[in-house]
Amino acid sequence: MPLNPFVLEVGNFMRYGIISDIHSNLEALDAVLGDIQGQHIDAIICLGDIVGYGANPNECVHRVRQLTDQVIVGNHDHAAVGLTDISYFNPHAKRAVMWTTKVLSSDHFHYLAELPFTIQREDLFFVHATASDPPAWNYLFSSQIALAEFEAFQGRCCFIGHSHQPMTFSLENRGLPQRIENLTCSPQGRYIVNVGSVGQPRDGDPRACYAIFDDQQGKLRLRRVAYDVQATQRKILQAGLPPVLALRLAHGE
Ligand code: ZN
Repeated sequence: MPLNPFVLEVGNFMRYGIISDIHSNLEALDAVLGDIQGQHIDAIICLGDIVGYGANPNECVHRVRQLTDQVIVGNHDHAAVGLTDISYFNPHAKRAVMWTTKVLSSDHFHYLAELPFTIQREDLFFVHATASDPPAWNYLFSSQIALAEFEAFQGRCCFIGHSHQPMTFSLENRGLPQRIENLTCSPQGRYIVNVGSVGQPRDGDPRACYAIFDDQQGKLRLRRVAYDVQATQRKILQAGLPPVLALRLAHGE
């Protein structure tokens, strides 16, 4: 498919496409990029975990590098290049990380190793896991933790990934997690938004997930995009990766 480069330059951008947790799933990534092309997006931001679990790490890193220079690192990217301890990974994730390390091109390996933990753009903050301690790879599910996280970033919105479960936390709502597909941010409000996962959704919906944020209007929209799950599953099995990593994609878990 033809790709348009979304390279950020200095200045204010109106509409962000925010993608996260691609996990070497090329079919899901291409479906999302096809959808993005019709959404009048000015800039794409990638919140990390480009690799891990799936069978196309090199292809996915290549795509992301073509698309945007606004990319932060995820725990699976860091693990694949030997920068994060994988002893806490479950056995399937561990096998996938070791396989990824073996097949990654040295160019893509060095690219992943150099990615930053965070991006701040105007009053928007981007991090894979949590703003308070990015390299700790903590998960954010509860209002108690969310309220503490609001102290840890500057600006109105913090965009995260990592849990593969799209949800929104707002200060107005005392940090309670909410499932919101369309949100109009109030001008004085502050928000933490988990944009879900492109390549391995875990909220029961197998379709790829990403977010569009219109900076000027304060409008957030989650998009779900169907892709060829069976093609991805076949590749995972052919690569000799754990079958459970293929099976779970059909159920979005
Ligand atoms: Zn992930």
